[in-house]
Amino acid sequence: MSHVSIRQLLKNFDGKPPTVAVDHLDLEIEDGEFLVLLGPSGCGKTTTLRCLAGLEQPASGSITLGDQLVFDGDRGVNLTPDKRFIGMVFQSYALWPHMTVRKNIAYPLKSRKLTDALNSGRVEETAALVDCERLLDRLPAELSGGQQQRVALARGLVSHPDLVLFDEPLSNLDARLRDQVRAELHDLHQRKPFTAVFVTHDQSEALALGTRMAIMRAGQIVQIGPPREVFEEPVDEYVAGFTGMSNRLPCEYVDGRWYALGAEIFGMQPPAGASVGSFVIRLRPEKVRLVADAADLRHGEAGIAVHVDDVEYGGLHLDVMCSVAVEDSARRQLHARIPTHDSSRAPRTVSRGAAMILAF
Ligand code: ADP
Ligand code: MG
Repeated sequence: MSHVSIRQLLKNFDGKPPTVAVDHLDLEIEDGEFLVLLGPSGCGKTTTLRCLAGLEQPASGSITLGDQLVFDGDRGVNLTPDKRFIGMVFQSYALWPHMTVRKNIAYPLKSRKLTDALNSGRVEETAALVDCERLLDRLPAELSGGQQQRVALARGLVSHPDLVLFDEPLSNLDARLRDQVRAELHDLHQRKPFTAVFVTHDQSEALALGTRMAIMRAGQIVQIGPPREVFEEPVDEYVAGFTGMSNRLPCEYVDGRWYALGAEIFGMQPPAGASVGSFVIRLRPEKVRLVADAADLRHGEAGIAVHVDDVEYGGLHLDVMCSVAVEDSARRQLHARIPTHDSSRAPRTVSRGAAMILAF
């Protein structure tokens, strides 16, 4: 377990066009912290992990792992992967197909010649930790996807490395298994903390697992903090969109009225003093209401007229897809997620084709 320090890390790829994959990234990871890196495809998550592991050579910057300087562009330091004490768990489990589970898990101990750990039952102990001690003599082909992923997890943890890197390790599992392995991983880290960087593009994974989460865009970190803080106080629109505020209303104040997407917004106060009369509102589908009429808006609530395009039944909730009711071919969709048993959030009769007010 170790503190990790990344300073001004730069990694670019030649090519047409050249890419700056990691752009002067600064990141401090505390001892025992489970840091989640969240961002869209192509924002540089994998490259950041590969730089940490020594699989890519950065152009400049520095990386310190515990008290070991593993990369420093100025001083020409660049330790090879085998000199860095790092465990890795990837999306493709990458188990050796010809080796039993036991041999797969033991592999990092063998290759690092950690004979004491090997002889003291570390393999069995780690297998038990991820609930696969009964699978030790099987081959990977004889395991389910979830079991293979647990073995990969055990292999990443077995040597008690300074740092464990996870690159979207759950994304190949089906939804139920993903939730289960995610819960197991969380429980494991609570019981036996290890320093981890966990990459995902799934916000629910990031919220559930992270001690802190860092939102990445174009090779940089735009916000970092405890999941609750990032979720509730996104610093900008990009982060807001990435943490579930999927509805976007660009509002404009014209001739004494507010408009968004070409439709009037009811119930919104005029801009205070000389402040500019335009800004963007981001709304969570879980937070909005649907009412039949503007007269049903509560005190302090604003609303916009919408057309209900579709209603999807989701068991505990309804997903109501609406569009702003303007005569315009480029209609913007808005999404309301309404608990099935909460009639204060929408009339029971909400149905496809209805004209309603989306309240916020
Ligand atoms: P993520 O994991 O967030 O999806 P990556 O780190 O894989 O993103 O990629 C970041 C950027 O670097 C992307 O634009 C990608 O196309 C580019 N990139 C990654 N690896 C290479 C490579 N080996 N050669 C050229 N460009 C690459
Ligand atoms: Mg990736």
